[in-house]
Amino acid sequence: MEDSGLYRLYRLAQLDRELHGLRRRAKALDVGRDEKAALRRITTEAGPAIERVRFGQREIDRLLTSADERRAKADDFERRLYAGEFVNPREVEDYNKEVKLLREKAEQEEQAAYDHEAALGPHLNQARAAKREVKRLKALILQKKEAALVEHGALEKDFEAMRGRRPELTAPIPKPLLDSYEALRGRIGDPALSLVTEDLRCGECGVPVPERVREAVARDEALTCENCLRILFWVVPTE
Ligand SMILES: [Zn+2]
Repeated sequence: MEDSGLYRLYRLAQLDRELHGLRRRAKALDVGRDEKAALRRITTEAGPAIERVRFGQREIDRLLTSADERRAKADDFERRLYAGEFVNPREVEDYNKEVKLLREKAEQEEQAAYDHEAALGPHLNQARAAKREVKRLKALILQKKEAALVEHGALEKDFEAMRGRRPELTAPIPKPLLDSYEALRGRIGDPALSLVTEDLRCGECGVPVPERVREAVARDEALTCENCLRILFWVVPTE
């Protein structure tokens, strides 16, 4: 085919289409979007169990610490009783009572702590499973992000190399044709040029192209699709 302005525009549009493809691939890189969504879901679902476990463990610690303190106090009173620190029988009786009370209370607290621990069981399992899953997902997200970064770098390199070829393709195109093409790209994006198919349709939007339009395009006239407004091009079938 004669190297007309339209044909040169077609070659430029081919490059633009490839550049557009690279941009789309870069945008669609998997940076762990699904995993992030799963992470949010798990955090929400297991949130109450994790909170319950955290609260329960605080309560268990509090009870056991308190029981220890009461026992230490009781031990101290007993030590002082045996050392004969108190002589008044009334005082001795009071301290003995206090020791008994402290030990009883400590036992109750210890029992309450065990009860709390038993009640925590199912929540503990859910919280642990959620933590394991969160850890796994976070590692996966990191891995995907790193892989995407590498791929993005490669795509960018291809993109820059390809874009470097653009000036040599734009240079020989008549300015009015190039200007209208660029304006169209600005309005509708890539691809701004569409091939007329064998069954006489616009290759991009599928709307039929009248025979006379196809013939005009074949004669190197720059016409646009009535529907999607893309510049039409007709590739003369080989042989
Ligand atoms: Zn169209």
